[in-house]
Amino acid sequence: MNNISLKALAKINLGLDVVRRREDGYHEVRMIMQTVHLYDKLEITKTKEPGIVIKSNLSYVPTNENNLVYKAAKILMDEFNIQEGVSVNLIKRIPVAAGMAGGSSDAAAMLYGMNQIFDLKLSRKQLMERGVKIGADVPYCLMRGTALAEGIGEELTQLPPMVKCPVLIAKPQISVSTKFVYENLKLNDETVHPDIDQLVKDIENKDLHAIAGHMGNVLETVTIPEYPIIAQIKEQMMQSGAINSMMSGSGPTVFGLFEDEETAKKAYDDMVKSGLAKQIYLTSIYNNRRD
Ligand code: ATP
Repeated sequence: MNNISLKALAKINLGLDVVRRREDGYHEVRMIMQTVHLYDKLEITKTKEPGIVIKSNLSYVPTNENNLVYKAAKILMDEFNIQEGVSVNLIKRIPVAAGMAGGSSDAAAMLYGMNQIFDLKLSRKQLMERGVKIGADVPYCLMRGTALAEGIGEELTQLPPMVKCPVLIAKPQISVSTKFVYENLKLNDETVHPDIDQLVKDIENKDLHAIAGHMGNVLETVTIPEYPIIAQIKEQMMQSGAINSMMSGSGPTVFGLFEDEETAKKAYDDMVKSGLAKQIYLTSIYNNRRD
């Protein structure tokens, strides 16, 4: 096999809680991760010349060693002493720096692809062990589907598949640094934490309205006061008939869950007309796992 074309799927968080700040500065989280059918594409080709060459359709995405795809390739090339090279055409659609794990999913796809084209015979678990060195979300991106992520996000418990429904994604034209959000998160007695255990039960019960009703993201306490446009986008989705809407990850992307395709399509049009968001996608819950 000399080349492979892969989809790197994005995630949303149906729930995101920060339990505490650890002494080493990392935050202990409890998150419900859900794959959606919005993806980047990686066209990976084995080359005779050694090295890792990346090109992308987006000029502002790094194509050097700062790209997580590069890191993924390098880890396996070093470990397996691979003498050939790889070239990757990275076609980005997932909003960048947006709380949808775009870079992590690209890295996961690269690990998966390298394993195939160089016939490394690593199991999914072994790929996950390499993936966590690149980022806490990479193991989840290798797994996909519905999962509870704890620790710094790398301790995964597979959950039953989420109820399928249309998902509207909207990202405003602002950048939010994940570092800024976590550094400015103040956890105290007044902090309202989402009930992650209840969300797990709702997912097990396949109750879409209960899931939507218990969605919560503690990071909104930092981003919404700082960037009110996030609240405006949420409100816009609610007015268009979302069952609920929420920010994903550390933002600024907002997603809304919808009961039916027709309402979701109308909500998409309304969002376009509102001018609040720069990137808008109508997508759906994706439940297939990678073996
Ligand atoms: P998360 O949901 O984990 O917070 P994110 O959506 O914030 O992810 P990414 O889209 O992965 O973040 O990108 C964050 C930064 O990482 C970008 O600004 C970019 O400079 C860098 N980066 C590295 N590799 C990639 C990649 N493959 N795609 C996009 N950005 C990348």
